[in-house]
Amino acid sequence: MITPLKIENYVSTYLSKEDDLLRELDRVTNLRTLTPRMLSGHVQGNFLSIISSILRPKRILEIGTFTGYSALCLAAGLADDGLIYTLDRDEETALIAQSFFERSEYKSKIRHIVGDAKSIIPTLDEEWDLVFIDADKEAYLVYYEMVIEKVRPSGIILADNILWSGKIVEEPMDKKTRLIHEFNMAIAQDTRVKNVILPLRDGVNVIMKK
Ligand code: SAH
Ligand code: CA
Repeated sequence: MITPLKIENYVSTYLSKEDDLLRELDRVTNLRTLTPRMLSGHVQGNFLSIISSILRPKRILEIGTFTGYSALCLAAGLADDGLIYTLDRDEETALIAQSFFERSEYKSKIRHIVGDAKSIIPTLDEEWDLVFIDADKEAYLVYYEMVIEKVRPSGIILADNILWSGKIVEEPMDKKTRLIHEFNMAIAQDTRVKNVILPLRDGVNVIMKK
C-alpha cells in the first residue's frame, strides 16, 4: 500500500459492488495460494474493467494471469467479437483461473495460455487495443518492447506495481526496484507514447500509444 491506510479504506468502501464470482475468486485465492496479495482485488479490478469498457477492445493481452481476477475484470469491457489472451507460466494457479473462467459469462472470449510469456508473445499475431503487463517485474521493459509495435494507435498499455510498495523512491534500491525504475524512466522518454503514473494500489503506469 502506498496511500495512507485511512485513504485506502475510504477508497475500498465507496465503490460499486464486487461481482459475486470475483468475490468468490478473491476468497479462494486467499485460501489456496501462498501469494494472495498478487491478486488485483476489488478497487483495481473496477479500474481495469472501466478502462476496458471505455476502449471496447477487440484484442487484449494480459501478461500474468495468476488466478484470473484481472482477466475477468478486463474481459468485461471486450467488444462482442473481442478476445483476451492471458498468459502465465504457473500451472497450479492456472487451474484455479481455469475453473473460474469456465464459470464466467466471458468464458468463450478468454484464451488462457500456460507457459513462459517471453516465448508465447511472439507467436500471437494480433493487433492489441489493450495490454496489461503484470508478470515478472524484472522483464517489464522486455515485454513493453515485445508489444509496443503491435499496439494500435491510441491503444493502451497498463503496467502494474510500478511504485513497488513505495520502494521506488527510496535509496538504495534493490535490483528489482531499480529495474522497475528504469522501466518508468524509459517510458517517460519514449516519444512513441504518452503516459501518466496513477498511485492506485501499488501504482499503475498508464501508457497510451500515439
Ligand atoms: N494479473 C493478476 C496477478 C498476476 S501476479 C491479477 O491482477 O490478479 C504475476 C503472475 O506472473 C504470477 O502468476 C506469475 O506466475 C506470472 N509470471 C511471472 N513470470 C512469468 C513469465 N515469465 N511468464 C508467464 N508468467 C509469469
Ligand atoms: Ca499486480
